[in-house]
Amino acid sequence: MAGPNAEKLAEVKERLLERKRRLWQEVKDQLRSNIGDGYQEMLSTARDEEDQATVSLLAETQLTLLGPKRQELEAIEEALQRLENGTYGLCESCGQPIEPRRLEVMPETPFCRACMSLKEKLAKAAAVR
Ligand SMILES: [Zn+2]
Repeated sequence: MAGPNAEKLAEVKERLLERKRRLWQEVKDQLRSNIGDGYQEMLSTARDEEDQATVSLLAETQLTLLGPKRQELEAIEEALQRLENGTYGLCESCGQPIEPRRLEVMPETPFCRACMSLKEKLAKAAAVR
């Protein structure tokens, strides 16, 4: 079974980039409402490199609070990486092509359906323990 063709890959890349842009916008909005004026003030008064580091540390801390959005951003980032090195559409776990319909719904997924449900089962089993 052949993987997605070049045209399809370009379309996927566009979708991923668009999703990434939107997520970053949501993240920024959330950051702004979470820390509000204090952050704005820090941004505008950060002059030297040490201040900059504090600002990015603060942003980093806030990012960890963003949980699911951050995970999705990372998944998108990895999918874009796979597009670059030509392994997009192949399951990271078993190496088989991921079902096209699955990629259609979740273009950033790194696993085929079988591996994903196996992982979910394992995660559930681990959670019960
Ligand atoms: Zn697989």
